[in-house]
Amino acid sequence: MTAFHLVTLGCKVNQCEAEALAQAWEERGFRRTDDPAEAETALVSLCAVTARAVRDGRQIVRRMGREFPNCKLVVTGCAAETFPEEFRDLPGVVRVVGQKSKAELADGPEDRVALNDRQAWLPLHTYHRARAVLRVQDGCSHGCSFCIVPRTRGESRSRPPAEVLAEARRLLDAGFHELVVSGINLSHYGRGGGFGDFWDLMELLETELADAWAGKARLRLSSLEPGQLDGKALRYLASSKLACPHLHLSLQSGSPLVLARMRRAHYHPDEIIDFCAELAQAWPVFGLGADLLVGFPGETQSEFERTMALAERLPLTYAHVFPYSRRPGTIAAGMEATATPSEAKSRAKALRRLTEAKRKAFLERCATLDRVDIIVQDEEGRGVSEHYASCRLQSGFRSAAARSLVRARPLGSSQGVLLAAPIGEPVS
Ligand code: SF4
Repeated sequence: MTAFHLVTLGCKVNQCEAEALAQAWEERGFRRTDDPAEAETALVSLCAVTARAVRDGRQIVRRMGREFPNCKLVVTGCAAETFPEEFRDLPGVVRVVGQKSKAELADGPEDRVALNDRQAWLPLHTYHRARAVLRVQDGCSHGCSFCIVPRTRGESRSRPPAEVLAEARRLLDAGFHELVVSGINLSHYGRGGGFGDFWDLMELLETELADAWAGKARLRLSSLEPGQLDGKALRYLASSKLACPHLHLSLQSGSPLVLARMRRAHYHPDEIIDFCAELAQAWPVFGLGADLLVGFPGETQSEFERTMALAERLPLTYAHVFPYSRRPGTIAAGMEATATPSEAKSRAKALRRLTEAKRKAFLERCATLDRVDIIVQDEEGRGVSEHYASCRLQSGFRSAAARSLVRARPLGSSQGVLLAAPIGEPVS
């Protein structure tokens, strides 16, 4: 039986697709191995979101070619779509399949006839992590000036609601207590599909699943566009019995001028503050994360300070702060930089300091709660709460299996982690 090894970098969607391909290969009789030394083939799914991600991908492929000369490397993902020539000639690489043709790989490592579009939504039966990804959308039709994604993944495509529901049921029946509803741009869900928007999809999942699963399993929304946060969103979030009290927003900047240069002028930062204030009435405690980009071409010190002010005013509980990195082939690549690399770095540092202080304060607040519900991620008792706080189970923890849902009493926080003691047995 041909053995293969899986390597994945990048976002949840990329990981989920690679996992679905690996499961398709297993169904076709290939054997998966964690040890690349015994693999005849490796499926290497790479990311292109930053220059660094591409560089990391190249290093991984080079290292695998050097250390495992008998292993044939099949390279795919966003980096393979954007820079195929950078991978084709590396030692060990037998095939480079761009993101848009990735579904062709479902047949196995060999080059065969392309599958049709429908099969691009490869079904998942299980997942390799404690929290399963439920993929509902791919691609993006927007075109932010800094982003390479529309080139790598193409126009937005939505998975039909009935397929999403069937996959959710499969994963819940397989024992997952948390599904992470994911896409590249969830605000584009349903466009041109004739089946409603993202919030309609979430309402459908609520109607179909809440009676059987509320209290036993939960849905977490992955990154949302601020423009999606409307009255419909508020109604769903405030009433859902399945949604985790946690949002992650693609905010990028607090300056309307910078957002306009990013081609993201479809929301005003103040609207997000108002939305969070309303949401707090339904969710007294909630996690709020954000992606923030600093040092974008043209960003002045005072525009950066608007991002600092927004981060200060929002009830952020963590943030991913990125200094701008130029991506060839994007509109922003032709824009003139204003901040020097060291200025961009020091802006990122200041913003990280602020958001890190907020993260610590949030953990301290979580420590005062009566209870948190933790998805256990490993045998050491590490896991994540409904608010997306990193947790660790303490006294009385008897090695609950990864994926378990454990109710726990917070004890305090230490080194960026909420410590908690289990209450009773894991939820089944
Ligand atoms: S919304 Fe903008 S940043 Fe997000 S994937 Fe689309 S183009 Fe890229």
